[in-house]
Amino acid sequence: MPLYEFYCPDCRKKTEELCSSDVGSIKCPACGKDAGKIISNFRTGRSSTGGGTASSSCGG
Ligand SMILES: [Zn+2]
Repeated sequence: MPLYEFYCPDCRKKTEELCSSDVGSIKCPACGKDAGKIISNFRTGRSSTGGGTASSSCGG
């Protein structure tokens, strides 16, 4: 079961919830308001150290 992170703007805290389905938001356990899901590690890419190559290869 995937673990998702949710952020409550009211508490300004993150909450981890195990959700079987891909939900958009949950109820904050602290205040009960809507806590939006956080997209963590959207693109895990190594940050290029130095260098300034402005090239984008997007060929498919
Ligand atoms: Zn809250």
